[in-house]
Amino acid sequence: MRYAFLCFPGFKYKAVTLSYDDDVIFDEKLVGILDEYGLKCTFNLNSGLFAEKEGGRMMTEEQAKKLFSGSVHEVAVHGVKHLSLAEFPAAIAAQDVLQDRVNLERIFGKVVDGMAYANGSYDDKVVEILRTCGIKYARTVVSTHKFDIPTDWLRLPATCHHGDPALGELTESFLADYPENTHYVRRIPKLFYLWGHAYEFNDRNEWEIIEEFARKVGKRDDVWYATNGEVYDYVKAFDSLVYSVSDAIVKNPTATDVYLNYYGKNVKIGAGETVNIGEV
Ligand SMILES: [Zn+2]
Repeated sequence: MRYAFLCFPGFKYKAVTLSYDDDVIFDEKLVGILDEYGLKCTFNLNSGLFAEKEGGRMMTEEQAKKLFSGSVHEVAVHGVKHLSLAEFPAAIAAQDVLQDRVNLERIFGKVVDGMAYANGSYDDKVVEILRTCGIKYARTVVSTHKFDIPTDWLRLPATCHHGDPALGELTESFLADYPENTHYVRRIPKLFYLWGHAYEFNDRNEWEIIEEFARKVGKRDDVWYATNGEVYDYVKAFDSLVYSVSDAIVKNPTATDVYLNYYGKNVKIGAGETVNIGEV
């Protein structure tokens, strides 16, 4: 079990991240709900589909800039024109990805290297294109109904879509306490990854779905709230730890503090530090 020792920051065992697509004006109401409950989301934007002027369903570039700049949320690539990438020749697919990066990095003044596949469309060729374009993770539309830490980041599945009939049950199961273990407390970390489109809440009059989810999982001491990119960076820092053969000495060569539960012992390996965990 590759992530058996992993804790999220602050020795937490549960993390929640969200992924919402398509730069629609309803993102603003979604951001309001998420901010109220302390949740963080990655918004996947089509920079070629911004509206010319305000008043429609799509945000203008200015509206997006105002909503997301300086917010706790992440912006990520969704393709300039929302192309189903697997259907297009490689150069056209590459252009849709890379030009969206270029545009979003210009608008937001930061590195934009996350992504969600438009229409969930990808194949092995598209994954290679993303690698070449420097995309670090890309969300599919696959639901696992699980809370596993991802391992194939360019074919990233979600726990579920917000319209999934299993959402309530999954939320309860995610929040449930871990059973006590008489020998040592071994808790497997859980990531709840929720995705959708804010226009679905509006068009179907279903804002209650996300409000209820936020009420249940938000503002809790035992949950780490992060964007997709923050989860990626944290897990990659964990993956970068270097262990001595004895397992007692652990070096963290990254710029991120990493939290472990090593056979019942909470250990923080600070950025750039080497820690002797000692006998376990
Ligand atoms: Zn989309």
